Amino acid sequence: MSKKPPVAKKEEPPATVPPAPAEEAAPAPVKKAEKGKRPKKHKEEKGVHAMYKIEGDKISRARPTCERCGPGYFMADHHDRYTCGHCGFTRYKQK
Ligand SMILES: [Zn+2]
Repeated sequence: MSKKPPVAKKEEPPATVPPAPAEEAAPAPVKKAEKGKRPKKHKEEKGVHAMYKIEGDKISRARPTCERCGPGYFMADHHDRYTCGHCGFTRYKQK
């Protein structure tokens, strides 16, 4: 008269287990790529050494120096003018 209850009910199927959120994680890295619109241009390496050109034994300056500040202050090379970043002196290119 000793009946044991059935033990089959122990394994309950997971009724409400959400599936892995693989769908939400996928489109995330796409946003990052859209941020950088322009492809990076490799700019010329700049520095004091870029202002000089060495031709054999001689050194020549690639850019004019500022008339106000004197030698040592190179002027920025724009498409139609040279400007001094130190004092703001502008010299237009003559054609
Ligand atoms: Zn200057």
